[in-house]
Amino acid sequence: MLRIGLTGGIGSGKSTIAKLFIELGVPVLDADQVAHELVEPGQPALAEIVREFGHDILLDGHLDRARLRALILAVPELKHRLEAILHPLVYQTLNDRTQTIHSDYCVLAIPLLLETQHQDFVDRVLVVDCPVERQYARVAQRDTLDRTTIEKIITSQIGRSERLAAADDIIANDGDLTSLRPQVARLHALYIGLAQQLP
Ligand code: ADP
Repeated sequence: MLRIGLTGGIGSGKSTIAKLFIELGVPVLDADQVAHELVEPGQPALAEIVREFGHDILLDGHLDRARLRALILAVPELKHRLEAILHPLVYQTLNDRTQTIHSDYCVLAIPLLLETQHQDFVDRVLVVDCPVERQYARVAQRDTLDRTTIEKIITSQIGRSERLAAADDIIANDGDLTSLRPQVARLHALYIGLAQQLP
């Protein structure tokens, strides 16, 4: 099965695009969702995070995401330690779940696909692109994050030109929502065609 890696910066429109693929009946796996599941109470990854970060990282037994985000944005070494715990498990879980899917192709929504240098995990890299100012505006509207935090998240991610350089396919999400469906439909046809050429 062909694996399409859907990636893009925060607020670029990955989830919006993922929904359009789902509407077309395409299986979509979401790395963020997997990461959330992996740190639910009782999961081994949560115990490991508590070992690294201390019990203060919990709020009523759950991972305190806001605190964790503040810590890793402030201290790069902590970010690396968190990634060392989570990233291998996320990719392993995505890989396992991909094996159970029967479809011409599937979409793996992986925000940090390029940052984690896992391009080879997928057959094609699909980048959702939009200007950085749009990312700010969308995230500010969607989440309760201040501009400094959004700025830190954006600068911690790969730059726009580098991301575009790694893309096999690009969805331009700099206009209104109606411009997305035709782009997804065109890629859907492309991916089905490519899947049928697989040995
Ligand atoms: P990501 O998953 O990349 O972080 P989302 O798909 O969640 O991004 O989009 C971020 C926010 O911007 C969401 O609230 C979404 O509804 C909105 N959004 C995305 N694309 C557009 C667009 N073309 N026009 C208007 N709002 C958009």
